[in-house]
Amino acid sequence: MARYIGPVCRLCRREDSKLFLKGDRCFSEKCGYDRRQYPPGQHGQGRKKRPSDYGQQLREKQKVKRMYGLLERQFRGYYYKASRMKGVTGENLLRLLECRLDNIALRCGFSSSHAEARQIVRHGHIRVNGRRINIPSYQVRAGDVIEVREKSRKVQRITDALANIDRVTRPTWIELDKDAFRGKITALPARTDISSDIDEQLIVELYSK
Ligand code: SF4
Repeated sequence: MARYIGPVCRLCRREDSKLFLKGDRCFSEKCGYDRRQYPPGQHGQGRKKRPSDYGQQLREKQKVKRMYGLLERQFRGYYYKASRMKGVTGENLLRLLECRLDNIALRCGFSSSHAEARQIVRHGHIRVNGRRINIPSYQVRAGDVIEVREKSRKVQRITDALANIDRVTRPTWIELDKDAFRGKITALPARTDISSDIDEQLIVELYSK
């Protein structure tokens, strides 16, 4: 599946929020958003216009899509899948995104950014219930055990990421055993477990036009 490979700090500046796409750099004073809090491009510092309803919906969708490292087609696919599920579409959408294997690897602290999480999954460093899975979009379920393959437990970027795990809030729905490089999904995340910085209703309104 294709992925975005351009500069990422400009994405945070475009969405006017820290999306934490660069790992360690996001926690340092080099963070591009902290240094320049205006949109990228020639007219970024120009007059601020009040966004239309459509503009707000579009920005919210773009923000979430970029947060999870997805491109339009895949993101839209998640929306349609969520809309066919029982329950609230917006919450289903966020739950589907949150339960992607690359995101779980990030939440477990095995990587410091989504891009890195995606790469460690692609490179076969992660096992789910003892089986090697190298598909970043793999959906984990309640009760699944996610761990770093034994051979990979000395990989520098994995150990570094685990050492820094305390700088982010740990999800309550993942039981982490840091020393065993293992995390267990105790339950699927509820809406309150997912970032409150997202207004998923705007995304639903955008796609249901
Ligand atoms: Fe965003 Fe991280 Fe770049 Fe800061 S350093 S602008 S949080 S990607």
